[in-house]
Amino acid sequence: MNSRKMLVTGGAGFIGANFVHYWLVNHPGDKIVVLDALTYAGNRASLKPVETDPNFNFVQGDICDTALVESLLKEHQLNTIVHFAAESHVDRSITGPDAFIETNIIGSYSLLKAAKKVWIDGPKSQGLESIPHRFHHVSTDEVYGTLGPSDPAFTEETQYAPNSPYSASKAASDHLVRAYHHTYGLQVTTSNCSNNYGPYHFPEKLIPLIITNILNNKPLPVYGDGQQIRDWLYVEDHARGIDLVLNKGRVGENYNIGGHNEWANIDIVKLVCQLLNQRFSQDPGLAVQYPQAAAAIANKAESLITFVEDRAGHDQRYAIDAKKTQQELAYVPQVSFEQGIDLTIDWYLNAQDWLKTL
Ligand code: NAD
Repeated sequence: MNSRKMLVTGGAGFIGANFVHYWLVNHPGDKIVVLDALTYAGNRASLKPVETDPNFNFVQGDICDTALVESLLKEHQLNTIVHFAAESHVDRSITGPDAFIETNIIGSYSLLKAAKKVWIDGPKSQGLESIPHRFHHVSTDEVYGTLGPSDPAFTEETQYAPNSPYSASKAASDHLVRAYHHTYGLQVTTSNCSNNYGPYHFPEKLIPLIITNILNNKPLPVYGDGQQIRDWLYVEDHARGIDLVLNKGRVGENYNIGGHNEWANIDIVKLVCQLLNQRFSQDPGLAVQYPQAAAAIANKAESLITFVEDRAGHDQRYAIDAKKTQQELAYVPQVSFEQGIDLTIDWYLNAQDWLKTL
């Protein structure tokens, strides 16, 4: 596809916003319409750097509103959907699964219905070919379930075994996407990615929570013994992976995207503590800017670590085998963890204005 006109759902969220920034810089002729309901996790301020770009449009609305999606696809002659919109926090899915079923399952179904109607059924009813299109669905490694310490990493062939209402709702949407390809010929791809980190991440998730709690001299909650293992990927590398899947991936396929970068939660927390301790000792100006953090860091930030009761049904380990994506699409993450975590901490140290908007 030479020129993409894209609907990006959930583009005011963490990964969606980073993807929009990435795409408009790397594909300057393409057009993007963001559709986002602006739930607690969505933030217009995360799109501020692209607000004046003539190729960018923002629409506040719900992906469950099929008529709205159809009208956007027609009005802007969109030929691509990149679907990020979701309820994404596992803890919230345990205390209140309804929103996860609604957005992640019904919302994804609504998008698929609208896409089929506009791209396939409409032209067909007039005796025409389908409009060339792509529906890319952004999923997670959590659909594969949990691994033991020495189990091989998840491949695209690993059987789905979701354990939380969040991962079950994502798995359900992955199956619907697959079915719309198989049954109706919708041109779909799906990517299953590991844990992302980077700028514009809402501070309920581990890395931004730890950074912002240190800056506010608050306890650093760590579930159970903190030995749960996750594979971490810098968010821009996720955007790069989706770019490759969109432009080189085979229709109907799933692609794993990962960082080859497994860390136990407790080690991530200690690393962030050490990096902030270092920042404050090297730059006395930070103690003036963040007096509460200076107090915490005087005793070393690690002293704020507080072990809390483990999450119900907590998955022990996720690990991604991204060989297929590497071999077929030449995908390799470009940002090392050392670089990415430095970039992230520096971003949060300069993000007071953004943090005030939450
Ligand atoms: P996020 O929670 O930061 O953002 C979700 C966005 O979707 C928000 O802007 C929110 O306002 C919007 N939204 C929610 N419900 C909506 C609805 N009904 N209609 C329209 N917009 C709605 O999520 P994220 O971390 O950016 O994750 C984006 C996608 O990537 C999700 O599908 C998630 O499952 C997947 N994913 C996330 C990670 C990760 O580490 N964060 C890893 C792998 C996959």
